[in-house]
Amino acid sequence: VLFAPLYLSNYCVNGCLYCPYHAKNKNIPRKKLTQEEIRAEVMALQDMGHKRLAIEAGEDPANNPIEYILESVKTIYSTKRKNGAIRRVNVNIAATTVENYARLKEAEIGTYILFQETYNRASYERLHPTGPKHNYAWHTQAMDRAMDGGIDDVGLGVLFGLESYRYEFAGLLMHAEHLEAAKGVGPHTISVPRVKKADGIDPDVFDNSIPDQIFEKIIACIRIAVPYTGMIISTREGETVRAAALRLGISQISGGSRTSVGGYTQKERPHDTEQFDVHDQRSLDEVAMWLIKSKHIPSFCTACYRAGRTGDRFMSLCKSGQISNCCQPNALMTLAEYLVDYASPSCASLGFGMIEDELKKIPNAKVRQIARGHIEEIKNSNARDFRF
Ligand code: SF4
Ligand code: SF4
Repeated sequence: VLFAPLYLSNYCVNGCLYCPYHAKNKNIPRKKLTQEEIRAEVMALQDMGHKRLAIEAGEDPANNPIEYILESVKTIYSTKRKNGAIRRVNVNIAATTVENYARLKEAEIGTYILFQETYNRASYERLHPTGPKHNYAWHTQAMDRAMDGGIDDVGLGVLFGLESYRYEFAGLLMHAEHLEAAKGVGPHTISVPRVKKADGIDPDVFDNSIPDQIFEKIIACIRIAVPYTGMIISTREGETVRAAALRLGISQISGGSRTSVGGYTQKERPHDTEQFDVHDQRSLDEVAMWLIKSKHIPSFCTACYRAGRTGDRFMSLCKSGQISNCCQPNALMTLAEYLVDYASPSCASLGFGMIEDELKKIPNAKVRQIARGHIEEIKNSNARDFRF
C-alpha cells in the first residue's frame, strides 16, 4: 500500500535532540499551512495519484491546536480534483488527551500514529530535555488514551539509532503485547524509521546506529512476532534498503514524498523546512513501476476503516489470513484507478499486464468476476471507488 506524508506545520515547542524542528533551532524557517495552502498541497498529491496521507505537525498548542488539525482533516477530505480523493487521513501528532483523541475519531481519521522514539526512560528524558514531550509516562501511555478515546487503529514505532536496538525491539514488542492484553487490539501498524541527517542534525552523533543487515533482521523479526500488523517504511531509506525490506514483510511504503511544509507545491529541492533528507527521491510513478517490476502490487487501497474493518474486527481478519480476500482485489482495483488516471504510458502498460496475471490468482471465482467487472468499469467510465 502506498501513502505520502503531508507536513502541516513545523512549529514545535519541544526540544528533541534528533529533529531539526526542535524549538531552539533558529536556522529553520517556521511555516504553518493555511487551509488554502493545504487544499493546494492535497490537489498536488491527488494529481500524483495518492489516496492515503499521513499528516504531520509539531507540538505547539498556540500554533497547532487540535482545532487546526481537525479543520485540516476536514479540508483534506473535502478537497477533490478530477477523479482525485484522499480517502484515508492518518494522523501523526503529539500525545494528547482522551477528549482530543475522541475528537480525532469523530473527524474520521484512519490510524493515529505516534513514535515512541525510545523506550529507554533515561535516554528518552535525555533526548527530550525540554517541552511537554519530556514527560515519558504521558508519551508512553498515549496509545492507551487514544484507544480510550475510541481510536482503535494506532501505529507504533521507534527511531532506531537513538538507543540500543535490542532494548527498542523488546520495548516495541512489549508495547504491542500490552495493547493487545489491555485493550484487546494490538498495533495497526509498526514503523521502522532510522535517524537521518537533517538541518543541524548529524546521525553520527547518536552512537547506536544500526547497519542495514541488522535493520533487515529487525524488520523480519517484527514481521514474525507481530504477524497481524501493517509495517511501514518511509523515504528515509533508499531504494536498495526498501527493496530488501519489502521482501521481509514491509506492507506500506511512501512514494514521491516531500518532508517539508508546503513541499508538494514547490518545484525546487531541497526545501528549507525539510524534517529529514529524503533518500528515495523517485516519483510516485517511478516507485509504482519499480514495485510492478519486482512483483509487488502497488495498492492504493483504503477500504478497511471505511468498511468498518478496524480494531479487533480487523485484527481477527488479519490473524486468520482472511484479510487477503479483501486486500488482493482492492489492490488490483485501486491500481487500475491509478493506471487510468495518473500513470505514465509505460507504467500503465506494465500495470495492466500485472492486473491480468493477478486477477487469475484470486481463488474465489465470484470475487474474481466482480473485481474484473469493476476494473472494466474503471477503464471505461469515471466510476471510481469500488471496494471489498
Ligand atoms: Fe517537535 Fe516532533 Fe520534531 Fe520533536 S520530533 S522537535 S516533537 S516535530
Ligand atoms: Fe489495507 Fe484493508 Fe485495503 Fe487490505 S483491504 S490493503 S488491509 S485497507
